[in-house]
Amino acid sequence: MRQPLVAGNWKMNGSSDSIRELVDGILSGLETKAEVLVFPPSVYVQQVRDLLSGSSVKFGVQNVSDQLSGAYTGEISPLMAKDLGCEYVLIGHSERRSLFGETDADVAAKFCALVDQGLVPVLCVGETLSERESGDTMKIVAHQINTVLRTAGPERLANFVIAYEPVWAIGTGLTATPEQAQEVHADIRALLAENDPSMADRTRVLYGGSMKADNAAELMSQPDVDGGLIGGASLIAADFKVICHAA
Ligand code: PGA
Repeated sequence: MRQPLVAGNWKMNGSSDSIRELVDGILSGLETKAEVLVFPPSVYVQQVRDLLSGSSVKFGVQNVSDQLSGAYTGEISPLMAKDLGCEYVLIGHSERRSLFGETDADVAAKFCALVDQGLVPVLCVGETLSERESGDTMKIVAHQINTVLRTAGPERLANFVIAYEPVWAIGTGLTATPEQAQEVHADIRALLAENDPSMADRTRVLYGGSMKADNAAELMSQPDVDGGLIGGASLIAADFKVICHAA
């Protein structure tokens, strides 16, 4: 059985005050069987770590470098993420791909750097609207995942998470229907199974893209949806807790 995972991606939002309020709100009365995780902006990770201490809620960063140290102005090393106590790291978010030009190969390099430091990658994949409309959803998603599987090699694939996020559903209020999500999730699991059936069984595949308090339960009731990656709704403690509870 895969334990559900609910992850909040706060993106470039918040201040020390609003983040203290948000974490307090999440922790108060949080009841869930799911593993819960938040991705604050990296400058607030230490604050969030302190606020979360003693709770079961985990934290990570939204992006890392594939390099460990050196002259990479503005970047964050996997070693730094590990030093701060992160367990999970988000990579390949569609905003990183579309706004910052990250390629499948870049994301695969980050995946390897993280696993080599004992961190767990949460690998985001997903198609744009035009790719869906031209029937290329699984071709795109398979290429994104296969690049990572090939680059990493079997020894680096023991523990990672996939987040399927159709780009057209991110921040738009448009959500994939539970059937649309399940279809892609099942295809992703089949792709993993072609490589290694036990990897397909153990690897959690999250749905992301306008998951909200009122649609989370139905999406997460699909057999191959193992939780959610939540953007907008993770900034509202009450809504995020409803989603955690639904998982
Ligand atoms: P959203 O974002 O929930 O606001 O659509 C999801 C994400 O980008 O991870």
